[in-house]
Amino acid sequence: MRIKVLGAGGGEVTGSAYLVETDHARVLVDCGIFQGGKKVEGLNRFDLKDVSNLDAVLITHAHLDHTGRLPLLSKMRVPAPVFCTQATLELTSLILRDSAHVQEMDTNRLNRKRQRAGMKAIQPLVSHEDTEDIIGRLIALPYDRDLPVATGIKASFAEAGHMLGSSCIQLSIEDKGSVKKVIFSGDLGPKGAPILKDFEELHTADAVFMETTYGDRDHKPLNETVNEFIGIVQTAVADKGKILIPTFAVGRAQLMISILASMFRVGHVPLFPIFLDSPMAIEASKIYFNHKELYDEELLEFIRQKPMMEDLKTLKMCPTSEDSIAINNIPGPMMVLAGAGMCNAGRILHHLKYNLWKPETHVIIVGYQGSGTLGRMLVEGAEKVRIFGDEISVKAKIHTLGGFSAHAGQKDLLDWFSHLAPVRPKLVLIHGENGPRTALGAKIKELYGTEAAYPALNQDIFL
Ligand SMILES: [Zn+2]
Repeated sequence: MRIKVLGAGGGEVTGSAYLVETDHARVLVDCGIFQGGKKVEGLNRFDLKDVSNLDAVLITHAHLDHTGRLPLLSKMRVPAPVFCTQATLELTSLILRDSAHVQEMDTNRLNRKRQRAGMKAIQPLVSHEDTEDIIGRLIALPYDRDLPVATGIKASFAEAGHMLGSSCIQLSIEDKGSVKKVIFSGDLGPKGAPILKDFEELHTADAVFMETTYGDRDHKPLNETVNEFIGIVQTAVADKGKILIPTFAVGRAQLMISILASMFRVGHVPLFPIFLDSPMAIEASKIYFNHKELYDEELLEFIRQKPMMEDLKTLKMCPTSEDSIAINNIPGPMMVLAGAGMCNAGRILHHLKYNLWKPETHVIIVGYQGSGTLGRMLVEGAEKVRIFGDEISVKAKIHTLGGFSAHAGQKDLLDWFSHLAPVRPKLVLIHGENGPRTALGAKIKELYGTEAAYPALNQDIFL
């Protein structure tokens, strides 16, 4: 049996894709897009020899770096079915449609420039047609059932605690008369995070492909971060300021809303208006709302006592741009949750333009800010920024809260592996920059004596 690393190898964090090949079947686990600059994004293609005759595709969770190359399979006329959990099916549909739309807008803008320079127009990486075709081929499977997905290959999805619907995939693979178990961790969530159950403990494997995003460090404890958040909100409400939270539409927005609901219920702050100013976050919230079977016991108990919407009477959804513009005329205190999460596009830019120069404004950064983004400039203390061509003075208070990560830190990654260590599986470390990846590998060797493999991109692993 051969497993080829088609992404998130060689120190790369994005582009997750692993081709599992036996004498009888070919299955692709994850089909993610490479993100972060022209050079890596140039990797966003497949060789036909790698994806021709695929029997099935399996998806661990909906994030683009695990799903974004799916439409390329349609473009290449690879007709395989795509299996994932029900919540992943719904969130992947939402995320792929949004991604196709963003790519089309970006390409149109670029093509206007190219036209003016007398250059030929280019095509977006994926089209709406390819996106709709692959969405039509998504098939939901239940958690924790060993079900056949290709000749001689069964798959089971186990909770990964990373986002709604996220899973670790366990394959049982018949090969030359024996059955081998191979686990793909997908992205693992931190233990004890709100909303989601913790990752499931897995106990048997012949080989483990494990993510290492934060393999070298632990995050600040979540309760400390929540307390900091409460303190900032209390101050801002007393100042009658506007609180702006640039947020990713899926996962982070729902986390912030659930924290606000419990703040209101406990009485940490009086009720104030909250605007969820993102059509995609509104759609994602509906999907989160409809999957109570995936909630952890704490959240279930919280909503058993009283429905969350009773705490969130002041939460207003803003699907249209008119709704968004109307927020400008409403005085503080209030909170606006809007995308994009790194302030590099989207409605948050308008709110920042109209409020960054006011000293009573508070901006709370709750997610990772890539280098070169407006969000990163704010975190690094820029005194002036440019938004839509205008120079804006930064008088607002900028707060950075680092403890809301959806990824397990080193301690939780080690915890996840500790349940597999006794059966001594072959360990393949992926999905991490080389620093975190080797740091986790060294720690695992020290604790369990297991020597890890660190594959490069396009490397084959034989079992
Ligand atoms: Zn993820």
